[in-house]
Amino acid sequence: MNSFRTRKNHRRRAVLVAGGAGFLGSNLCDRLVAEGARVICLDNMQTGSYENLGGLVREPRFSVVEQDVCDPLPANLEVEAVYNLACAASPPRYQADPVHTMMTSVVGTRHLLDHCERHGARFLQASTSEIYGDPKQHPQAEDYWGNVNPTGPRACYDEGKRAAETLCFDYLRGRSVDVRVARIFNTYGPRMRPDDGRIVSNLICQALAGEPLTIYGTGEQTRSFCYVDDMIEGLARLMRAKTTPDGPVNLGNPAEFTIVELADMVLDLIETSSRLVYEPLPTDDPQRRRPDIARADALLGWRPTTPLAEGLPPTIDWFAGRRAAASSEARRARPSRVEPVLQSTA
Ligand code: NAD
Ligand code: UDP
Repeated sequence: MNSFRTRKNHRRRAVLVAGGAGFLGSNLCDRLVAEGARVICLDNMQTGSYENLGGLVREPRFSVVEQDVCDPLPANLEVEAVYNLACAASPPRYQADPVHTMMTSVVGTRHLLDHCERHGARFLQASTSEIYGDPKQHPQAEDYWGNVNPTGPRACYDEGKRAAETLCFDYLRGRSVDVRVARIFNTYGPRMRPDDGRIVSNLICQALAGEPLTIYGTGEQTRSFCYVDDMIEGLARLMRAKTTPDGPVNLGNPAEFTIVELADMVLDLIETSSRLVYEPLPTDDPQRRRPDIARADALLGWRPTTPLAEGLPPTIDWFAGRRAAASSEARRARPSRVEPVLQSTA
């Protein structure tokens, strides 16, 4: 355990949320503003959106800096804490520009850590269960070093996040920055993008549209799904913990499901004609994932309280609401009278 004295400042400084316009980031910004914090969201809007920020943009205690973390940060951003959530989390999204993904984790994390060092601010890194790759140890505890392919299509994300963790612990040991690292396992809930490409959003959107539910491989691979509210609670507790943990902390829901079990739950909850369709398993797709959360429990008194069966319905409602809004917008945009095509006189 380490203890740090953060710089005293009579005027309360802001909390910076890098990646604050994304799925987890916007839910975190909502919570921090509701608690009375001054919040700066820094985001390049790659997978985030102003829509996620909703009413926050009218809040006087909330502001947005639209920029990439790979670019040098504005030096005058006075902050007391930085949450680094900047990085696309969905495999199709982060693989679309793998070099940028890697740089986001390495160069971006370095910029934010340097900023924390200058301002005496506390830093929380959103790391990932991908650190464990296709794990040979089950469930995964933090002392497991993982089984990651360093050159495959997932490496830009996995190795980027691993390098970011290395930077974090070097800044903790050598630069006296108060750093906390959360290893986040698959998290779902309102504000995931319909085109995110991950399993929960894909299955729900496909079922709502009456399309086939795509199962990659046999569907016997497992994941552990954490509801967004539980995750935000875990991140906030880790940031606020009085003592700095010496190492990373797993945050996730230890209940483990096969992908087919998840698909069956979605089919039970949505009235649909959809059926399962089997497609090839992506390269390096991990077979099993389940967090050992004993450390989070001991250090933070945290464990998730929302089982999958309770988290899926509000998530489905949210996607259904988006579909309804999109189709009424499309109806409004349709012209009431179609003009005849003009004959060219040329
Ligand atoms: P997301 O894609 O919705 O959010 C990421 C946000 O970061 C987006 O708003 C995006 O525009 C922004 N961003 C990406 N690259 C950036 C850059 N170079 N500069 C500035 N902004 C940038 O993803 P999410 O699910 O909210 O994940 C948030 C964080 O949590 C990510 O770091 C991710 O790696 C981590 N994480 C998430 C999960 C999960 O299941 N959701 C699991 C493990 C780890
Ligand atoms: N998956 C699937 N169908 C989909 C999307 C994903 O079967 O439409 C599988 C994917 O191959 C993986 C699991 O579901 O085995 C979880 O994938 P996701 O992209 O949600 O997250 P990650 O692999 O990063 O945990």
